[in-house]
Amino acid sequence: MSKNKIIIIGSGPAGCTAAIYAARANLNPVVITGMSEGGQLIQTPDIQNWPGETSISGYDLMEKMINHAKSLGAEFISDEIHEADLSNRPFTLKGDAGEYQADTLVIATGANPRYLGLESEEKFKGNGVSACATCDGFFFRNQPVAVIGGGNTALTEALYLADICSNVYLVHRRDEFRAEKAVIDRVQQKITEGKITPVYNAVVSDILGSDLQGVSGVKVKYKDGKEEEISVNGVFVAIGHIPNTGIFADQVQTDEGTIITGTDPKYRTSTSIPGVFAAGDCADSHYRQAITSAGTGCQSALDAEKFLQENS
Ligand code: FAD
Ligand code: NAP
Repeated sequence: MSKNKIIIIGSGPAGCTAAIYAARANLNPVVITGMSEGGQLIQTPDIQNWPGETSISGYDLMEKMINHAKSLGAEFISDEIHEADLSNRPFTLKGDAGEYQADTLVIATGANPRYLGLESEEKFKGNGVSACATCDGFFFRNQPVAVIGGGNTALTEALYLADICSNVYLVHRRDEFRAEKAVIDRVQQKITEGKITPVYNAVVSDILGSDLQGVSGVKVKYKDGKEEEISVNGVFVAIGHIPNTGIFADQVQTDEGTIITGTDPKYRTSTSIPGVFAAGDCADSHYRQAITSAGTGCQSALDAEKFLQENS
């Protein structure tokens, strides 16, 4: 088992950016890609908010990032980590394909949006069903959409979409939102203006449409048993995210699964374990964007480099 200066777990924007910075610092980074080489972005056909690219597919963008990191000498290993021993340095990782040791670790394992679990939802993912209004809202300008959820994310997504779409149906399973008061006040204002239509005490029981035209509506079921169809072209599921941090849960401090960073004021991406850094969506329940993930990926490699200088 070879010992590495730095291992980066995850090959999304955070992991790839960490790899680019670590490679340029001569740390010979190893990236463990996980099941999804390139991360969440490879699911999306069109990204329009990556600086310098007016429009690019997620696959192409991530291929560029991976090739960039490889061209600088980063080694990518296709493996999924199942066990991590972070009790001593060097840290030990166990995957399907082997065991690894590293003096520093960057956890960049991302987070997955929680979905409703409907068959029709799966069918229309990327063709009318999305979990990111900032990413996909633009495709539904001047069209009616539904947002599902009653937390900060759902309400923030609804506010964002209300300025782009013709109407936003905000479907919530209760009649009270769990978001911050200031956010609820802004939503109430949009409801008064007729830009957001609340659909309380209701769950989406089916998503309607065709392969050719995408989504055409949602079927909602109210608490009292009544059912109704609402015509929409887009459905934004905003019922929470699940950070991919389960394997570190007993060792690294988290807040509901999101890794807590900045524990050591010297290193912005430090975790509760010295030498273990975290970047991207696994450590961010708020912004969850490619660019913010890349940003913290950069910070994590710079932090790891400084940590190695001070602790070798
Ligand atoms: P991820 O991209 O989630 O990558 C996580 C990586 O960790 C993956 O490589 C995975 O295989 C690996 N991994 C996980 N567990 C393990 C393990 N146990 N062992 C080894 N590896 C592991 N953002 C934008 O800015 N613009 C957009 O247009 C946009 N569109 C989106 C569209 C969709 C459909 C989705 C789902 C998200 C979109 N986002 C968009 C959000 C963006 O994809 C994320 O913010 C970003 O990918 C997070 O990057 P990350 O590197 O933190 O994690
Ligand atoms: P959240 O607070 O957990 O809210 C999830 C919402 O989805 C809840 O309203 C919940 O309903 C609903 N829900 C869950 N499962 C559902 C299901 N199966 N079917 C229908 N509805 C379902 O998640 P979040 O909104 O993503 O927020 C996560 C964290 O990020 C929070 O800490 C939040 O404060 C933070 N955040 C902050 C901001 C901000 O601007 N300040 C923005 C985004 C996120 P119930 O209410 O009935 O449980």
